[in-house]
Amino acid sequence: MESARIQQLEKLVKEYGAPLYIYDGNVIKNQYHRLIRALKKVENVKVNYACKANTNLNILKYFKKIGAGLDTVSIQEVQLGLMAGFEPKEIIYTPNGVSLEEIKQAVELGVHVNIDNLTLLEHFGQEIKNYPVGIRINPHIMAGGNKKISVGHIDSKFGISIYQLPHILSVVKNTGLKIDGIHMHTGSDILDVEVFLQGAEILFDTAKNFENLEYLDFGSGFKVPYKEGDNETDIKYLGEKLTERFLEFEKEYYKKVTLVFEPGKFLVSQSGFFLAAVNSIKQTTSTVFAEVDSGFNHLIRPMFYDSYHNITNISNPKGRERFYTVVGYICETDTFGTNRKLHEVHEGDILCFENAGAYCFSMSSNYNSRLKPSEILLLNDKSLLIRRREKLEDLLTTTEEITI
Ligand SMILES: *Cc1c(COP(=O)(O)O)cnc(C)c1O
Repeated sequence: MESARIQQLEKLVKEYGAPLYIYDGNVIKNQYHRLIRALKKVENVKVNYACKANTNLNILKYFKKIGAGLDTVSIQEVQLGLMAGFEPKEIIYTPNGVSLEEIKQAVELGVHVNIDNLTLLEHFGQEIKNYPVGIRINPHIMAGGNKKISVGHIDSKFGISIYQLPHILSVVKNTGLKIDGIHMHTGSDILDVEVFLQGAEILFDTAKNFENLEYLDFGSGFKVPYKEGDNETDIKYLGEKLTERFLEFEKEYYKKVTLVFEPGKFLVSQSGFFLAAVNSIKQTTSTVFAEVDSGFNHLIRPMFYDSYHNITNISNPKGRERFYTVVGYICETDTFGTNRKLHEVHEGDILCFENAGAYCFSMSSNYNSRLKPSEILLLNDKSLLIRRREKLEDLLTTTEEITI
């Protein structure tokens, strides 16, 4: 980590206390424009931020300001998007496993709806007239990096199988549904652009069966580096290859459509830093533990997905390097990183966890009745408190007090 960054983070921890989430708006904006640039030869492009990665209302407002749309997976995310100032038509709702009732609420709010289940598609077509919808297909391309986040395989619960296309077409014909978009999202972590492009071919083939499409949505799954030497999705190459095919498609289709991507991790992961103070050092027969004042209640990815987050001791950046296993205070196995080389760690030092912008705060909980930390957004050298630290009262806001 650069020393200017270390000094900046140290200063913010002094000001706001630890644990603390910090997001750098410039990193978000740069990632957004990197993707836009890679697709610059396509006339209509929309990048919808998949907001489940980080739903702080102010982060959503920032995406609105830089020109993004919003990808949502629950009615609550739709509502947050509207509160953040997005127009209904800038929001796409791509739920999985929800009720028709919830989908009807999204229709009332006027957002784009994307259906990923044949039974629901049929109900929708029977009950709701003149409301165009998109279809989420499952191209059965295995592009995922991890079983839990790979959603394109044959037994996945996501999308309508491409083998069921004849059935989709008969439902559309029988109900008079208008289909305005075709969508796929094959899961996180695209390692191989060629595999992604195979999925895109299936999407183009499917699209030719529908006459009045407004958009083709290629989902996401862009991989970002979490540690040195990690592969990263080659955005420029992917953009070039996909642009070529997209322009061909538009020619054959005789109509301009919007090319949509909906990244979460790619846009926000690297903007985030999570800072936690060291409570103590504990030596056992084989291990030196650095115990921090946080746990998987604040950052669950290492425990949930075996994710690697780089850890740096920002309080002693020039100290001797030693090996530590960094653990949290939750009363279960709670490991952030095993056998990590860190600059010598002392009580009170601040450890920084990188790539903390995506699926970190948004997956946090109050387990062990712990309070959630503050969040800070950096915008042009200004630090803005975008969520205050929780207080005990916050844990009780939904509790009914009765006498027992
Ligand atoms: C989660 C999700 C995304 C974003 O995935 P990332 O790996 O964070 O880029 C995009 N689209 C849909 C439908 C999703 O559920």
